[in-house]
Amino acid sequence: MARLDVLFDGYGGNGVASTVSLIRDGDLVAVVDPGMVPSRASILDPMAAHGVSVEEVTDVIISHHHPDHTINIALFPEVRIHDHWAIYHHDQWTPRAAEGVELSQGVRLLETPGHTPQDITTLVDTDDGVAALTHLWVFEGAGEDRLATDPDLLEEHRARVLELATIIVPGHGPLYPVG
Ligand SMILES: [Zn+2]
Ligand SMILES: [Zn+2]
Repeated sequence: MARLDVLFDGYGGNGVASTVSLIRDGDLVAVVDPGMVPSRASILDPMAAHGVSVEEVTDVIISHHHPDHTINIALFPEVRIHDHWAIYHHDQWTPRAAEGVELSQGVRLLETPGHTPQDITTLVDTDDGVAALTHLWVFEGAGEDRLATDPDLLEEHRARVLELATIIVPGHGPLYPVG
């Protein structure tokens, strides 16, 4: 089973901050959506409290390309970066489709466009259930996404994720159980 820790609960409204998460599963040490936060310490201090240094992070996963979820990628010097269509590592851009990619035994990616055409969801098998780290929901109880580039597609992928996940880690809020 993978271990999932939310490092920072994002928010929107008065300021905007990304929900930032840490996944550990065997050799994989991944940070998801290291984007806008009040300060870099908002990511680094909780990581240190979990006993993880920036050098130990092997991978970064971004839910999509908006800067509020990406601007702190460079905190992690050695990572492979995963998005919807490629892996980026140093000067190597390796194209691949994200759908079905397994980063470890308990961590896989789904293509879930709707908010933008570049959205992916990270599914994590944890002791508490299957967590979906995703921008399909901005926070718990989020209804219509007024910024969605394709609302119908977004609804389609929300339904798909709800069939697979028991925990949602939304783009800008604390994690919550499905239902
Ligand atoms: Zn966005
Ligand atoms: Zn966002």
